[in-house]
Amino acid sequence: MKFLHFPLKDIFPESPKMNNEPIDPLISALRQIFGFDSFRPNQKEIITAILHNQDVFAIMPTGGGKSLCYQFPAVILPGLCVVVSPLLSLMKDQVDAACESGIRAETLNSVSTKDDFIRISRLMEKNELDLLYISPERFNSESFIPWIKQGKIAFFAVDEAHCISQWGHHFRPDYLGLSRITKEFPNVPLAVFTATATTFVANDIEKQLKLRNPFRVRASFDRPNLFYEVKFKNDLSSQLVNFLKTRGGQSGIIYRGTRKKVEETASMLVKKGFKAKAYHAGLSDQIRMKVQEEFLKDEVPIIVATIAFGMGIDKSNVRFVVHGDLPKNIESYYQETGRAGRDGLPAHCLLLFGYQDIALLESFIDDLPEGKIKHAEERQLQEMIRFADTEQCRRKSILAYFEENYPNENCGNCDFCTKKAVREDATVDCQKALSAMARTGCRFGITHLIDILLGADTEKIKTFRHNLLKTWGIGKNRTKKFWRQLFNTMLSKDLIQWDKQCKFPVPLITDKGKKVLFGKEKVELVLRPDEKKSSSQVLLTDENIKDQLLFDRLRVLRKEIAQEKHIFPYNVFTDKSLQDMVRIKPKNMSEMQLVQGMGRSKIKAYGKLFLNAIIEFLGEKK
Ligand code: ADP
Ligand code: MG
Ligand code: ZN
Repeated sequence: MKFLHFPLKDIFPESPKMNNEPIDPLISALRQIFGFDSFRPNQKEIITAILHNQDVFAIMPTGGGKSLCYQFPAVILPGLCVVVSPLLSLMKDQVDAACESGIRAETLNSVSTKDDFIRISRLMEKNELDLLYISPERFNSESFIPWIKQGKIAFFAVDEAHCISQWGHHFRPDYLGLSRITKEFPNVPLAVFTATATTFVANDIEKQLKLRNPFRVRASFDRPNLFYEVKFKNDLSSQLVNFLKTRGGQSGIIYRGTRKKVEETASMLVKKGFKAKAYHAGLSDQIRMKVQEEFLKDEVPIIVATIAFGMGIDKSNVRFVVHGDLPKNIESYYQETGRAGRDGLPAHCLLLFGYQDIALLESFIDDLPEGKIKHAEERQLQEMIRFADTEQCRRKSILAYFEENYPNENCGNCDFCTKKAVREDATVDCQKALSAMARTGCRFGITHLIDILLGADTEKIKTFRHNLLKTWGIGKNRTKKFWRQLFNTMLSKDLIQWDKQCKFPVPLITDKGKKVLFGKEKVELVLRPDEKKSSSQVLLTDENIKDQLLFDRLRVLRKEIAQEKHIFPYNVFTDKSLQDMVRIKPKNMSEMQLVQGMGRSKIKAYGKLFLNAIIEFLGEKK
């Protein structure tokens, strides 16, 4: 029988009663180990299935709390949980986090030595290990299976399981070897976790890993704490600067489409006085590792990156993700924005896009050979454009892509749902725009059409002598932004549509559009002029300056501890825990226990330190 360093009687007390309600033993264990008061959706069901020796296939969004689903039973069950995880950095991070919660965890990967094996063998013999993280390469190595069979394995867990599917975004050939788990260990349950949302990939994972009548969970893909916002890109640099000015030193990622753009944006931000660094595949491994570390350690708050950045990032306090260019599909957009707000606190996702992005992405697709992949990418790009370019609830739109129906009319946490709608008859304006199209032979993109309406004096206008047109300057009474919105509305109302023959996005007038142009039909425009501040901004800039100061003080303490222990600050305490300390302002250790994330290992290690810091701060501020 495994030596339980969390004695069973603590975890399963003899049916104690509180207000005549029996305490749920799982909740009481959750409280003790992790310091959480309740399970996130599906966690309890998954844990229960594992405790009953059943295979599990869990699809849960990023930040849904997948790690806890295997870490928890790993502590409770006799024997060891072997977890396969794809990246060294992720493994180290998870092991650090687990150890902070008092869970006995180790890792074996490609850089492990013989001594590591000997040490871990000893721990296994003495039943002093809960979790063993391994890389897929390690599992595939010849000696591994016979070696691990000497120990008692409670269950296997495969994290980031989409890596096994060639249809997914992060296929890892080494994951294919994991299909041997069920054959080699017929009596050991296997729990599989992924955040992939496509049914196609999900089915593939289940088939490849040969799960045996698993307990299946598909959680909602809604991330209620993420605020989604899409804006037209008119001056990216100043839009970014203005956005970052409202973020007050928070951590965030800015994605750009190419290495060159990454470098440009990063140096622009540095010039403007922001602490930002670039990350892309063109930098040496050493530099990339350093940049990633500095980000994880809260030393560099802003990373400007290509999509090469992110897979190994489990940082829980990423407060914003900005896309400076249109992503090529909704799946990537969802994964990338998903890196924000893992801790459940408000986080902001801003997408800045312009029509030139569409043209660029289309030209990449054009270069692909004819076939299934090309058509799929074309379709996915159209979906992405629909998302960015249509006035509707962003959340509803993303979830619809994943075939999930969002039940509420207003999500209350996206740009569309938080702006006041004003209806306006826009028939005359539509006629002006349509006439600009008709008079130029429907051969020009929206940017140029707007220049004509506004009476601009660009080179292109001069070249084509469009300043001689009757429509040149007839839209001067309106702003550029208005015309952008109007063209969007015309697209979504099918008054115009993209010319499929043309390489660049050029709109054509539809039959419905002609009816409007000739005054046979009216158009109403929904304008959303005054933007409310996003909830994350309101919450994080904090109403109370004193509270903000205390938060900063605790943040410094967290960083000092992390530096000393060579772990990441969010593994000491999450932002949520610090916020709870600020809110509760505990005066003694028993009040300290009310803070989320104060499991018994953490309270022992850090409770006093933080309590003293709070008491000292409040004494000063009296
Ligand atoms: P995933 O792997 O699904 O993306 P993680 O396992 O990294 O998510 O968990 C994300 C964050 O949520 C972590 O900071 C974790 O501590 C926290 N968390 C997990 N379960 C709970 C819970 N029941 N209550 C509060 N926080 C939780
Ligand atoms: Mg995870
Ligand atoms: Zn919404």
